[in-house]
Amino acid sequence: MGFENLSSLTFGPVPSRRLGRSLGINNIFPKTCSYACIYCQLGDTLKVQIERQPFYPVEDIVSSVKERVNLAKEKGEGIDYLAYVPDGEPTLDIHLGKEIDALKPLGIKLAVISNASLIDRPDVRGDLARADWVSLKVDTLTKKTWHKINRPNRRLNFSDIQNGALQFRNEFKGILATETMLVKDINDSAEELEATALWLHALNPDICYISVPIRPPAKTYVDLPAHDIIIKAYHIFKGKGIHTELLIDYEGDDFVYTDDTQKDLLSIMSVHPMRKDAIERFLEKSGDSWERVEALVREGKLRKTRYHGQTYYARILKRPEKIGQ
Ligand code: SF4
Repeated sequence: MGFENLSSLTFGPVPSRRLGRSLGINNIFPKTCSYACIYCQLGDTLKVQIERQPFYPVEDIVSSVKERVNLAKEKGEGIDYLAYVPDGEPTLDIHLGKEIDALKPLGIKLAVISNASLIDRPDVRGDLARADWVSLKVDTLTKKTWHKINRPNRRLNFSDIQNGALQFRNEFKGILATETMLVKDINDSAEELEATALWLHALNPDICYISVPIRPPAKTYVDLPAHDIIIKAYHIFKGKGIHTELLIDYEGDDFVYTDDTQKDLLSIMSVHPMRKDAIERFLEKSGDSWERVEALVREGKLRKTRYHGQTYYARILKRPEKIGQ
């Protein structure tokens, strides 16, 4: 397989608010997830599934990562983590554990950002336990709110997920993080936050991140909580003795470019909508012009959207059979 195909499986390194500079691995078909979160920055879930399956051959993922690592080295760019942050749920990939094992010899720490929905499965816990850093999504401890905010596949069981996460805490030797996305008037009431914090205290992760939807969400009714609510959430978490950090700022635009600007932009934006000013700086760095973006919009590959006073561009995702690749 040539680089043309491989490049869509990896992107970056990109600045990450949690992981420093991370080289992203996109091991899932476009927007295949067990959840359809209302705040998802990738838009609506194209396929809500809970069955694990093979998506790409292990060797394709590994060679794409190696190729990116070498490119970054050539440009003198450091990589802090290889991070599974696909446009879907990474644990749906049945090869996840094999891929992590095959990537270990590169000597770079490995991170997986998961929505935790399949964590009650021993095979999923076994795969995640191979990583150095794992983040689990914990948006709410209320079943009704879970349906509202994460819109799970109907075969998922809420309490099984919590029990699976607690079991994983006991089995996992690496750094365990959690991420709680706060959405205005959905999961940001004092009662909700108290219940979430109490459970997180029992889970005892190394760090809990509180985030807010800073990029355009799947549903237009989603909004950021007021600043004082975010601060209140922080204090409720801290009050339970939890190591807490807020992820409420834009992470910057220090993206690495290769010789193919179009592929770079598309692979970053398929998991990571970019602000207009970030794209402008990216194009300046790579010596390309804004016409490149206009052409991608005309071709139906990118969509433009406004959110909280900023213009964003995101990839228009399609299921593989419709991509015509
Ligand atoms: S935010 Fe993550 S878990 Fe939620 S729908 Fe999007 S990809 Fe899936």
